[in-house]
Amino acid sequence: MAHDNPTGNAPGNAAKPAAANFLRGIIERDLEAGTWTQRQWGASPGDGAHHAAGPLDPAKIRTRFPPEPNGYLHVGHAKSICLNFGLARDYGGVCHLRFDDTNPEKEEQEYVDAIIEAVRWLGFDWNANGTEHLFYASNYFDFMLRAAQALIDAGLAYVDEQSAEAMRANRGDFTTPGTNSPFRDRSPAENRQRFADMQSGSMPEGAAVLRAKIDMASPNINLRDPALYRIKHATHHNTGDRFCVYPMYAYAHPIEDALENITHSICTLEFEDQRPWYDWLLERLADMGLLNRPLPKQYEFGRLNLSYVVTSKRKLRELVSEGIVEGWDDPRMPTIFGMRRRGYTPASIRAMADGSGASKTNIWLDYGVLEGCLRNDLEGQAPRAMAVLDPVPLVLTNWAEVFGSDGHIETCQAPAHLQRPELGQRQFALGAAVWIERDDFAEVPAKGFFRLFPGNKVRLKYGMVVECTGCEKDAAGQVTKVLARVVPDTRSGTPGADAVKVKGTITWVGAHDAVPATVNLYDRLFTEAQPDAGGRDFREVLNPASKRVVQAWLEPGLASAQREDRFQFERHGYFVADRVQHAAGAPVFNRITTLKDSWGT
Ligand code: ATP
Ligand code: MG
Repeated sequence: MAHDNPTGNAPGNAAKPAAANFLRGIIERDLEAGTWTQRQWGASPGDGAHHAAGPLDPAKIRTRFPPEPNGYLHVGHAKSICLNFGLARDYGGVCHLRFDDTNPEKEEQEYVDAIIEAVRWLGFDWNANGTEHLFYASNYFDFMLRAAQALIDAGLAYVDEQSAEAMRANRGDFTTPGTNSPFRDRSPAENRQRFADMQSGSMPEGAAVLRAKIDMASPNINLRDPALYRIKHATHHNTGDRFCVYPMYAYAHPIEDALENITHSICTLEFEDQRPWYDWLLERLADMGLLNRPLPKQYEFGRLNLSYVVTSKRKLRELVSEGIVEGWDDPRMPTIFGMRRRGYTPASIRAMADGSGASKTNIWLDYGVLEGCLRNDLEGQAPRAMAVLDPVPLVLTNWAEVFGSDGHIETCQAPAHLQRPELGQRQFALGAAVWIERDDFAEVPAKGFFRLFPGNKVRLKYGMVVECTGCEKDAAGQVTKVLARVVPDTRSGTPGADAVKVKGTITWVGAHDAVPATVNLYDRLFTEAQPDAGGRDFREVLNPASKRVVQAWLEPGLASAQREDRFQFERHGYFVADRVQHAAGAPVFNRITTLKDSWGT
C-alpha cells in the first residue's frame, strides 16, 4: 500500500503505518481513477487562469490544515494536522498550512507564530517541491471580492438591507421554509452599486449583507441565501484598514481551497450540511470561468475527543483567564504547547492520532491511549535514573565499622538503559546516609511487604544489601530516619554479591551527592471523563489535586540534564526537565506519566 513508503513533507511512522480509513479509501480510488491528474498548478495559489498557465500539478493530492489564528492549538487540532499532513505524505501529495484569517477581530500574530511552532514541533512542514506552502486566506480577499462581483453580475447574489431580526425571522427553521427578502429582486446594477457602498465605508455595520441567491425554501438551511459578506469597520492584522467588508467563513473557505488547488478538503462533521453550499459556490465560479475543474471536494470526519480533557478553544481560554491553570502551556493543558511542556513527544502524539483513524462519528479516546503511546515511545529510548520523590533518610549505622570512616564512599554503576549500551553507564556513590522513599519503610509490615522493616534485608538497587534495624520518629510519630546496617561484601557487580538473598530491592540516592529538585506531579485536570458533557460547567468537576509539587532528590548525573530531556525515574514513571523553569542549578522536572496505566478504562 502507498503508505508503507512515506515520502514528501512529513515524518513517517515506520513502525506502525496509519490504519486504513475511509479517507484513505477515497484517495486510493481517486488515484486509481486519475481523478486529479490533469490539474495544473501555477506554482502559487490563484484563480483559474493562473493555474491554467502552469504545468501539471506535481502534487498527486493537496490537503490543508486551516486553523483560524485565534488561539492555541489543542490535541484535536493535532489530530487534524496528523491526518492532513499524513495523507499528503503517504500519497505523494502536499499539505498546505493555511491561516484562515478572514475574521479581523479575533486574530493575532502571537497565535500565528504559536501555530507555526506547534505544527513544526509535531514534525511536519509545508516545504515541498522546493517551495513553502504556507498561506494566508486574507491574501485572497481581492479574489473573493471579484468572485462576489461576478455572482452579482450573474444575478446570483444580492445586497440585503433587512434588519438582522427580519433576516433571522425570514430564514424560517427546520419545519418552516424561509421567506424571500424584499431586496431579493434588485437588479444586478443596483446590487453592484449597493455592494460598492458597503465597501466604501459609508454604511454602518449591520446595515447590509451580500447574500447568495439560491432558494429560501431549501430544506437545507445553509442554502437559504447564505451571507457572503458583512460590513466590519475593523483593522485586520494583515490587510490593515484596506477593507471594511469581510467574507463569511462559509464563503471564504471553499474559495481558499479552490485557489490552492486543494483536492481533498477534510473537515469535521459539523460541516456536513455545508457541503451542498460548498459545491454550489465552486460550481458557479467554475461556470463563470473563475476557477478550473476538477474542483476541490469536501469530506467530513468525526472529531477527536480525549477523556478527562476539554478541547473547545473558548473553554481553554477560560481555564487560562480564570487562573485555573498557569497559562496556555500549563502541562495540564491539552494544548500542543501544554502537552509539549508536560513531556509528550511528537512521536507519541502522532501515534495517538494515527491510531485513532478517521471515521464518520465523533470519537472519545481514553486518555490512557495517549499515555500508552508515550510509554511505547520512551520505553526504548529514555535513559533511566533514580529519584526519591518522598524522601526520608536511611542511615547505615555500621558504615564506619565496615569501611573505616563515615566519609567513605563506594562508587556504584548502572546502565543508562539496559537495551542501549551506547548510552553508557551512570555513576553514583553509596555512603553512610542515603535518601529512600518514605513508603519503602514500614515499622510494622503489611502482609506481602518485602521492603524495609526491622529485621528485614533489602538491596539498595545497584548498591549493597542492608538490614533494617529500626527508625527514629518525631513527637508526632512521623518517621524522621530509618536505621539499617550494611551487609559487607554485597556490592552489586562484585563476586559473591548475590550470596545474601533478599526479596526486595529499593531505589535510593546518596545523601552526599544527590541533586535537589522540584518535581511537579501532574494528574488529570478533571474528575469526570467527559467534563463538559450535557452542558455541565467544567468548573464543577475540577480535580483539586491535578498538580502536586514535591521536593525530591535525584541521582547526581541529572545535574547536567537539559530542558526537555526525558528520563524514566525507576519505579516512578517518565519525567521531563521543564522547558520553561528548569535550570542547571535549580532542576525542575514534570511527571509525564506513571509506568502503568492508572486511569482505568
Ligand atoms: P475549536 O472548536 O476548539 O475552536 P476550531 O475547529 O474552531 O476549534 P479551527 O482553528 O477552525 O478551530 O480548526 C482548524 C482545524 O482543526 C479545522 O479543520 C478543524 O476541523 C480541526 N479540528 C479542530 N478540533 C478538532 C478535533 N477535536 N478533532 C479533529 N479535528 C479538529
Ligand atoms: Mg471553529
